[in-house]
Amino acid sequence: MAKTHQFDVVVVGAGGAGLMAGLYASRTAKTAVISKLYPTRSHTGAAQGGIGAALGSIEEDKPEWHTYDTVKGSDYLGDQDAIEFMCEEAINAVYELEHMGLPFDRTPDGKISQRPFGGHTNNVTGKPVRRAAHAADRTGHMILQTLYQQCLKNKVNFFDEFQVLDFIQVNGKTAGVVAVELSTGELHVIHAKAVIFATGGHGRIFEVTSNAYAYTGDGAAILLRHGIPLEDMEFFQFHPTGIYKLGILITEAVRGEGGVLINGAGERFMPKYAPSVKDLASRDVVSRAIYTEIKEGRGANGANYVYLDIRPESVIKYAALDGRTNPDGTPYTITGEQVLAKLPDIVDFCRVYLGVDPVTQMMPIQPTAHYTMGGIPTNKFGEVVIDDKNTPFPGLYAAGECACVSVHGGNRLGTNSLLDLVVFGKYAGLKAAEYANQTDFAPLPAEAESVSKAQFETLKNGSGGENVFKLSNELKKVMFADVGIYRNEKDMASALEKVRELKSRFKEIKVADTGRIFNTELLNAWELGNMLEIAEVIAASALNRKESRGGHSREDYPNRDDANWLKHTLTWNRNGKIEIGYKPVTITKHQPKARVY
Ligand SMILES: Cc1cc2nc3c(=O)[nH]c(=O)nc-3n(C[C@H](O)[C@H](O)[C@H](O)COP(=O)(O)OP(=O)(O)OC[C@H]3O[C@@H](n4cnc5c(N)ncnc54)[C@H](O)[C@@H]3O)c2cc1C
Repeated sequence: MAKTHQFDVVVVGAGGAGLMAGLYASRTAKTAVISKLYPTRSHTGAAQGGIGAALGSIEEDKPEWHTYDTVKGSDYLGDQDAIEFMCEEAINAVYELEHMGLPFDRTPDGKISQRPFGGHTNNVTGKPVRRAAHAADRTGHMILQTLYQQCLKNKVNFFDEFQVLDFIQVNGKTAGVVAVELSTGELHVIHAKAVIFATGGHGRIFEVTSNAYAYTGDGAAILLRHGIPLEDMEFFQFHPTGIYKLGILITEAVRGEGGVLINGAGERFMPKYAPSVKDLASRDVVSRAIYTEIKEGRGANGANYVYLDIRPESVIKYAALDGRTNPDGTPYTITGEQVLAKLPDIVDFCRVYLGVDPVTQMMPIQPTAHYTMGGIPTNKFGEVVIDDKNTPFPGLYAAGECACVSVHGGNRLGTNSLLDLVVFGKYAGLKAAEYANQTDFAPLPAEAESVSKAQFETLKNGSGGENVFKLSNELKKVMFADVGIYRNEKDMASALEKVRELKSRFKEIKVADTGRIFNTELLNAWELGNMLEIAEVIAASALNRKESRGGHSREDYPNRDDANWLKHTLTWNRNGKIEIGYKPVTITKHQPKARVY
C-alpha cells in the first residue's frame, strides 16, 4: 500500500505558475505543492528578459495596446476575452510582485524600469514601446525566489523531489494524484478535492532547445492518458537567438537594448523582413528570417548560424539610423559597462560557453526550440475544459506553460509567459480553493497507485533490446528537422511514422538500475514515454493543419487561411488512436487582419 496524504488542493509543479497557485489556494484551503525539482530549480528561474505590463513607467502605454499586440502576435488564434483579461490584470500583477519584495530595476526617478521587447508597440506610432519590467536579465529568477519566500511565509506544504506519475479521478471527478518520492522510490497517494497542473512545457522533444531537462511534458501526457484533449499542440515557438549548437537562450532583451542581427555577409537583414519594427519583430517572423538567410547561403562561415551584435559601436550606429532616442529625446547610446550591467548573465554565458565576449565580439546564434504554446485546455480561471463547448472537468485546473488558455494562440510575445504565470496561476489557485471549499472528497479507488506501479514494472522488465538515450536522441532529431521551423506534408508524415516506430521500440526498453534511491534511469525512461506521446500529438496536429499561422509554418501551405483554419485544434488519444476536433476562437474587438511589420 502506498502512503496516503490528504489535502484540499494539490498543485503539481513549483515554478512561477505553481507557486502563485499554491500561494492563493493556501489562503483558504489546505494546500500542498508537489515538485519533481526543488522549487527554486524550476525553469521559471531561467527566464531572463522581463514581464510584460502596460505600466507606462517611461512612456505612454495602455492595456488595450498590450491586448492588440498580443492578439496580433498570436496571429489571431488567441482567445481575445482571455487576452483582454490578462493585459488588464498585468499592471496589478506586477505591482503585487513589487510589493512582495521583487527587486525590479528602477528608472532614475524610482519607478519600475521597462525595456522594449519583440512585438510590443505603441499602437499609434507603430514603434516599439518599453513594456517589459525587468530585474537585469534575471527576471524569472527573482520571480521564483520572491514567490517561494511568500509560500514559505504562508506555510504552504511542499513535497520537494516528488514526481507525480498519475492523476486520480472517480466517475469524472478529481480525487488526487500518485507520486514517487525520488529519494526513496516509495509511491504516495495524495488524496485531494482539487488538483492544479503547473508542470511547464515539453521543449526537450527537440534537438536544439533553450528548455530545462525537466521539460518533458509530464502533466500534459498524464492528462492525455486520462482522456483529456490537448489544444493547439502544433504551435511551438522557436526563439530566434539560441547559442549556436547549444540552444542556450540569448534573451530578446539584447535586441531590446539595441542589439541587431547580422548575416554572414556582414549585413543587417531584419529591415528586409520587417521594415517597421526590424529586429524587434515577433519571434516566429525573426526565426524564419534567420532560417531564410541561412538557406539562401548567407549564414556565417557557410554554416547554420548568423550573428547577434550588441557591441556598443554597432548599437550606436544602428540606433542613429533607426532614429532611436532616449526618453529625454537625446540619441540612444550604450557603453560596454551598461551592457555588462543590463545583461550580466548573457555576457557570462557567451564568455563561458563560447569564449566570445559580447562587448567586443558578435555572438553566433541560431533559432532554438523555446516555448509550448499549446497544452491542457483551460478557461481564463484555470479550469480545465474538455470539449468544444468548454465543459469544465470538476476539480481539475492547469496554469502556466503546460496550459493553453489560450492567450498566446499561434505565437507568444516575449514577456507574456511570466505574465501568464502570475495572472492565471493566481486565478487557478483561487478557483481551486473555492471549489474545494464547497465539495466533499471523492472516495479514493482501491489501489489508486496500480497504474503507476504497472508502468514502472514494464520499464524494468522489457527485453532490453532498446536504450532510452538512443531513442530519445532519435526523437529529438526527427522533431527538430521535420516538425520544426518550416514544415511540409512529406516530412511531417515521415516524422509521425518515425515517432510511432519509436513508440513501439520503447516497449523493448529495460531499465538496468534496480535501485530505489534517486533512480534517475527509471524516471528518464518514464519521461521518454511522455515525450513520445506528446510528440505524436504535435506531429499529428501539425500535419492536420493545412495553413501557415504563427509558429506553424508550412512550405506547402504558405498562407494563413482564416476561412478554414481560424479555429483551435483539440487532440485526443483514444485507446492509442489520435482523434482531432476543433473549437472556435473567441473574437471580441479585433477582426483578423494580415500581420504587417
Ligand atoms: C531560458 C528561458 C528564458 C525565458 N525568458 C522569459 C522571459 O524573459 N519572459 C517571459 O515571459 N518568459 C520567458 N520564458 C518562458 C517562461 O520562463 C516559462 O514559460 C515559464 O517560466 C514556465 O513556468 P511554469 O510555472 O509553467 O513552469 P516551470 O517554472 O518550468 O515549473 C514547472 C514545475 O513543474 C514541476 N514538474 C514537472 N513535471 C512534474 C511531475 N511529473 N511531478 C512533479 N512536478 C513536476 C517542476 O519540478 C517545476 O517545479 C523563458 C523560458 C526559458 C526556457
